[in-house]
Amino acid sequence: MSIESCVIYEKKPLLSVKEAQERIYAALSPLTQSECVPLKDALGRTLAQTVYATINLPFTRNSAMDGYAFCSKGLDSEMPFTLTQIGVIFAGNPFHGELKAGECVRIFTGGVVPDGADSIVMQEQVSADNVTIHFPAGIQFGKHIRQIGEDVRAGEPLCLAHKTLSAIDLGFLASAGIEFVNVIRKLNIAYFSTGDELIGLGDTLRVGKIYDSNRYSLHGLLQHPSYNVFDGGVITDDYDLLKQTLQQASEKFDVVITTGGASVGDADHIKTVLEACGDVNFWKIAMKPGKPLAFGKIGDCYFFGLPGNPVAVTTTFDIILKPALLYLTSAHIKQPLVLSATCTTPLKKSRGRQEFQRGILTQTPQGALEVATSGHQGSHIFSSASTANCYIILDENVTSVTCGDQVSVLLC
Ligand code: AMP
Ligand code: MG
Repeated sequence: MSIESCVIYEKKPLLSVKEAQERIYAALSPLTQSECVPLKDALGRTLAQTVYATINLPFTRNSAMDGYAFCSKGLDSEMPFTLTQIGVIFAGNPFHGELKAGECVRIFTGGVVPDGADSIVMQEQVSADNVTIHFPAGIQFGKHIRQIGEDVRAGEPLCLAHKTLSAIDLGFLASAGIEFVNVIRKLNIAYFSTGDELIGLGDTLRVGKIYDSNRYSLHGLLQHPSYNVFDGGVITDDYDLLKQTLQQASEKFDVVITTGGASVGDADHIKTVLEACGDVNFWKIAMKPGKPLAFGKIGDCYFFGLPGNPVAVTTTFDIILKPALLYLTSAHIKQPLVLSATCTTPLKKSRGRQEFQRGILTQTPQGALEVATSGHQGSHIFSSASTANCYIILDENVTSVTCGDQVSVLLC
């Protein structure tokens, strides 16, 4: 055990990723206020109340095929038979006549099945001689009719509260005639970069300066229909300025996110600012990349102080922030799918923190999942994070992985 890890274990063990997640969920109160929006504006939003059907779906019996509708009563399915076509039913144009024994109607998909008909036969199975329709032996009766309410009956739920509305949900609700829905209001989020070294795109690079990239990553990561996002720019490493800016932001936003300054350096003021103007829930976790991660509250505003290193930003966002922000929107949270894959490259790791190494997941022609490292794992290394398509999750006590070992993988 290294001297550093002795200190970690003996003085104050870092919170595990799971413990940090549990503390975050325990501290968050999901939004409850809702707003009524037109259906088309509801994509990706959280449904505030369960929406119930006021009609049966399907509303009427209708045909699932292009074919012929008839009543099977008195017919023998083992024998060929002949019926007389007395009409044609297109979708949208119901048939108003009466269907008697010995008769059939030509019907197209979606056409209303006339009273009395109990069977539809596909047009490919019959031969037509003007209005005389020949049905072969072996026809199955009772088929190809979509029944009233077989999808959803009037009074039953269409979509449950807390569902994140998908494209098929918009279609589903539209099919039931729902024009407007109540969704949870948007979460107002502000994000800032911190650091004296940061310059903006378009500025001239000088020694000691770097382009602020974290705000661009966060811009991408925070694209969500349930978020109103404000880019607050860069705050220099000035305690008073940081305090004043974060205090002001906390009065306007539900969530404030910063990157950088969350560690223990002399210019890292995030923790002390949070202590001074709010409450620190925790500020370090046993995660790599991403050890310096502060979480707390300033007034009613939730505060997340992410690390400065760019890959630590995207990783802590994916693992910790993304589910937490979605939880705040009152959305039902689905557990991410953790896959098991064979590791095809050796991996190194030190004991003590759960690592989320960047990897490339592939599938063999036989369907087996294989994962390889995407390269250099430094938390400042963009290139290997950019080519990665997954995280390889290595638990706190793991120290190495050899080729052929099974590892847990999370798609990103
Ligand atoms: P810090 O946590 O502030 O000590 O930052 C850790 C590392 O991340 C340093 O190398 C910083 O220069 C870098 N860093 C901090 N903020 C950003 C940013 N917005 N864009 C790119 N790199 C950053
Ligand atoms: Mg800094």
